[in-house]
Amino acid sequence: MLHFVLTTGKCNLRCNYCGGSFPEHAVPFEITYDLAQLERFIEADPAPIVAFYGGEPLLNPKAIARIMDTVKAKFVIQTNGTLVEGLSPEHWRRMDAVLMSIDGTEKTTDAYRGNGIYRRVMKSARALREWGFNGDLIARMAVSERTDIYGDVMHLIGLGMFDHVHWQLDVGWSDAWIDFDGWVEASYKPGIRRLVARFRKGLADGSVLGMVPILGILKRLREGGSSPPCGSGTESFAIMPDGVIRACPISYDAEWAVAGNIKQSTLATLPRKGILGECLECSHLRGCGGRCLYMNRERFWGEEGFRKICALTKYTIDEVSTLIEAVDEAKRGKLVDIELLDYPPFNNSTEIVP
Ligand code: SF4
Ligand code: SF4
Repeated sequence: MLHFVLTTGKCNLRCNYCGGSFPEHAVPFEITYDLAQLERFIEADPAPIVAFYGGEPLLNPKAIARIMDTVKAKFVIQTNGTLVEGLSPEHWRRMDAVLMSIDGTEKTTDAYRGNGIYRRVMKSARALREWGFNGDLIARMAVSERTDIYGDVMHLIGLGMFDHVHWQLDVGWSDAWIDFDGWVEASYKPGIRRLVARFRKGLADGSVLGMVPILGILKRLREGGSSPPCGSGTESFAIMPDGVIRACPISYDAEWAVAGNIKQSTLATLPRKGILGECLECSHLRGCGGRCLYMNRERFWGEEGFRKICALTKYTIDEVSTLIEAVDEAKRGKLVDIELLDYPPFNNSTEIVP
């Protein structure tokens, strides 16, 4: 099970698709429950994965260090990459995966996240490597209207700093878009097609490019997987700073998302919250998994907006599925390291479907 542990609702940045901290009354800026209760809860899980999340989780490095020193688990962190000095090199070395927010080139990243952020994040990524972190370093991109998906993904891959690049569309709740439809047709869809072609060329040349959505969708098409791919509500839960357990870490104000409380609940008694509605009949369910539980339940863009996002998801899955033959050929011919195609190796909190 994946346990998102929110160490704070506060963030030190105000990126323009997120706006910064959660409201403090809803997601406190400090952990207000006894950490021993959390540790007991996680210890009851035979295969726990703990993903530190916020706000910016490194605003509370003491809680991270304490949990890492107390429970046996795989450890993941999703961070904006500006406060890495708060945690000791020894703790960084014990992380299995680090998801660092960076949106592509310096121009794209700084436009979304603020001047100088790209350089700070790159400095942090270098520091982690110098401190001996040799887990999976994942560039986590938020994708919006300024993004050139092909150029920004290939920029991050070309740096050679990150093992993987994951991107997530800023769709479904953002009202910052000026021309979503125009951007999809003129920029995003052609970019996806080029990324798929680039991945195919990589296979022929003997390399597996670390594009998480492509690798993850291929794995789902091959083996199936949880619904939604992040596991929210069934194989993943979020423990908020006040101890409330929710189906997904961003569902802080949704009644349907409340699953329990760290003080009373046990893993066995947590009610499961699955994907509902048209997803269950969808031709692309195997690859998509319903994409996102929060979006499945909350339709901030209305039904038409939901269908637009689905059309884009289906386009992406159809493009990725054209790679199946090339992947099989690369496996048969032992052209690539087959293990690299088995991604993610565990639920490392990448949502797979952008
Ligand atoms: S494409 Fe849309 S309808 Fe189909 S499974 Fe995904 S989210 Fe659900
Ligand atoms: S993909 Fe959706 S359901 Fe899953 S963690 Fe993200 S917001 Fe929550």
